[in-house]
Amino acid sequence: MGFLQGKRALITGIASQRSIANGIAEAMHREGAELAFTYQNEKLKSRVEDVASRLGGGPSFPLDVTDDAQIDALFADLGRHWPDGFDILVHAIAFAPREAIAGQFLDGLSREAFSVAQDISAYSLAALAKGARPLMQGRNGAVLTLSYLGAVRTLPSYNVMGVAKASLEATMRYLAYNLGPEGIRVNAISAGPIKTLAASGIGGFRKILGHVEAHAPMRRTVSIEDVGNVAAFLCSDLASGVTGEVTYVDGGYNIVSMTGLEEPAP
Ligand code: NAD
Repeated sequence: MGFLQGKRALITGIASQRSIANGIAEAMHREGAELAFTYQNEKLKSRVEDVASRLGGGPSFPLDVTDDAQIDALFADLGRHWPDGFDILVHAIAFAPREAIAGQFLDGLSREAFSVAQDISAYSLAALAKGARPLMQGRNGAVLTLSYLGAVRTLPSYNVMGVAKASLEATMRYLAYNLGPEGIRVNAISAGPIKTLAASGIGGFRKILGHVEAHAPMRRTVSIEDVGNVAAFLCSDLASGVTGEVTYVDGGYNIVSMTGLEEPAP
């Protein structure tokens, strides 16, 4: 029996087979969770439905997080699908205008790009947690979001998205404090770079992958399976004492500094 047997999970953020949310859905399905999904727009609907039919045949609902009416409709629909509630909310959503995630921070910066990145990549976590809250009562629920090292370090090209991820991590901690008394845990995984649709919008992404391969303690990048397994654990009762944490799944890259300067062995 899997360690998520009897749990119900809402998975947002699938855009392709390579999506981190797809890796999370696969791990949660394998561990026995019942899944429901969201898709951002009509173009992505059939892709998400394909994943859904492979992973237990759960329903898929539309969700553009910039639209409050769609957020309300999602939880109304979900309440009809799971009248006695659900256990796990996976937030795997981010966006920044392309010109703002290339080159130097100030080059592509605009008020519009900054606020779009904050709205879609950080505010949406709070908005979804607020909508999910009534359906997650009394079930030892868990909310999980996806962050990146650019929240706490400067990185080439990440720019406004790094600022949005810092905001996302702070939002995660405030939610953990707010929802803890209701038995709902809130955590983040800070994943190492993985080639997905969202990542390919970041300037010089291939070089970032190569750099991590060369310098991470594990000397490799991580996969959506690596992230999916940790996500399944963090959202399960095995992690019942963990909330408000950022867990790095990055082959250890975040711990290193000044690699490649080692003296040759005498
Ligand atoms: P992806 O492109 O597969 O997924 C991004 C998702 O965001 C898509 O499903 C897209 O539909 C959704 N999205 C964007 N705007 C939206 C909106 N307005 N409403 C609803 N959904 C919207 O890429 P991914 O890399 O799997 O990204 C998932 C999460 O993981 C993101 O938060 C990303 O920042 C984070 N992350 C990615 C990496 C990486 O290297 N790929 C590393 C660390 C963290």
